[in-house]
Amino acid sequence: MTKQFDRRDFLKAVAAASVIVGYSRDARAWVPGPGEEQNRGQGQGHGGFDRVPRLDGVLLTDAASRAAKGADLGNIIFETPKAVLRPGSIEDVAKMVKFCAERDIEVAARGQGHATHGQAQARAGLVIDMSSLQVIHHIGEGFAVVDGGCTWRQLLEASLPAQTPPVLTGFIALSIGGTLSMGGISGMAYDKGVQIQHVLELTVVTGKGKVEVCSERKNRQLFDHVLAGQGQCGIIVRAKVELVPAQPLAASSTMVYADIYTLQADLRTLVYRNEQDSVYAQGVTDPGTGAFVWLLNIASFHDPASSPDIAYLTRGLSYIPGTLTTNDIPYLDFQLTVDSFIAFLRSIDRFDRNMHPWYDVFLPDSTLAQHVDDVVSGFQPDDVGSFGFVLIFPLLTSTITRPLFRLPDEELVYLFDVLTARDEPGYDADFAANKRARNNEWFDQARSLGGTRYPIGTLDFTPGDWRRHYGSQWRGFVQAKEQFDPRGILTPGPRIFPRDC
Ligand SMILES: Cc1cc2nc3c(=O)[nH]c(=O)nc-3n(C[C@H](O)[C@H](O)[C@H](O)COP(=O)(O)OP(=O)(O)OC[C@H]3O[C@@H](n4cnc5c(N)ncnc54)[C@H](O)[C@@H]3O)c2cc1C
Repeated sequence: MTKQFDRRDFLKAVAAASVIVGYSRDARAWVPGPGEEQNRGQGQGHGGFDRVPRLDGVLLTDAASRAAKGADLGNIIFETPKAVLRPGSIEDVAKMVKFCAERDIEVAARGQGHATHGQAQARAGLVIDMSSLQVIHHIGEGFAVVDGGCTWRQLLEASLPAQTPPVLTGFIALSIGGTLSMGGISGMAYDKGVQIQHVLELTVVTGKGKVEVCSERKNRQLFDHVLAGQGQCGIIVRAKVELVPAQPLAASSTMVYADIYTLQADLRTLVYRNEQDSVYAQGVTDPGTGAFVWLLNIASFHDPASSPDIAYLTRGLSYIPGTLTTNDIPYLDFQLTVDSFIAFLRSIDRFDRNMHPWYDVFLPDSTLAQHVDDVVSGFQPDDVGSFGFVLIFPLLTSTITRPLFRLPDEELVYLFDVLTARDEPGYDADFAANKRARNNEWFDQARSLGGTRYPIGTLDFTPGDWRRHYGSQWRGFVQAKEQFDPRGILTPGPRIFPRDC
């Protein structure tokens, strides 16, 4: 440290305030200042530290802000950042990424923090809390322009009653930037592709701190490596996404199956018939018998004048006779089904503080049943938990053109999720170790059966695993990383391009 700002001054400043004025390269530490005014200063150098640029938002180092962004819904990985940016503008994101790149500080964007293995964390780095950028800029016919931190729910509520995104996730309180960095799947995707297929244009802050616009026609390399790119090449600050005409009602039907083989045969039939707006299955323990059963859910969106013919739509299916039920509900209520359940879990403190070691894998049609049967038949009571889910989503691979969304090599594949939730809130080291080992073991089997990882979950991947995961796309991904994030500062959480390797 220099004379102008010695260690004692530094510690005094830390004690006095949590708003940052600069960064000391010597101490590799952020320098707090006495008040926000300084944070909005001139961006000039100051003694022994580099002053942070003038910001529209705020940069925080207080323990509570940092701890909140040093965890995620998994509650398994805890990497506390040294600072949190709540950007007030795209320029804030660009300025701070550039500032960090010049000083080798790692940066992660965080949407809603619902990935479960530290994906949005940056140990000793900067987390950019995208929830402070949530403006819906424009809704036009067939499209919307939104900030990357907006949630799908915010967009849906703004676009209804006339329009809806063509594919929504099951839970819609997820950020648009977050799911576009992963894929974004639900029962609506099987014939239309996942959410990243429905993006028209992105505004991205690259790892150089440069704001770039990209689409299928413009700056294609960036577009292709940001969608499902796990935040490796840039931060999505704005997105132009497709909208389609919305129907006011959803006829949602459920049927019960005793085994995965019969269920899968009917999923296949429904996918190839292509008559439904949504198709997925949920595995549950029957409270009456204690047996594990499958609920097949199909939905048709419609207007009041044209109710779907459920008998026709379910013709020839092999569900347990007498188990077909149908509810005709408003479209928005249908899309909020999972959100309502999560709201209930939050009301009883069984969501944000519970551990969620999630297992999420795509399997080809030819091996889905084998893997699911092996996993489900070996379930321990805490493998799902009282508040967890087991889900299966079909997907036609012909609907996918984005190179980083890695799928098994068959025409029809399925996402199989075991969304484990520990019953009690709080951290339990044995539970974490046990379920991580379980997921790794399950994944080894899935991969040997042609499976690929959906990277929202909890899996210990080495750089070698990632290389294998990206396969033929690896080389292009490495080139894009070098091009758009040459200092390798963006999104260290998944350890795809670790700087210590
Ligand atoms: C209850 C629940 C239900 C879910 N249901 C579904 C579902 O139906 N379908 C589905 O596909 N997924 C589902 N998910 C998983 C979800 O898609 C992922 O957890 C996704 O990462 C969530 O978005 P987020 O805003 O929480 O992102 P975060 O967890 O905050 O971030 C995820 C990753 O994206 C990066 N990132 C975040 N924002 C940006 C940005 N603007 N630009 C670039 N990178 C960014 C982060 O750095 C991180 O690497 C569900 C999750 C939960 C908790």
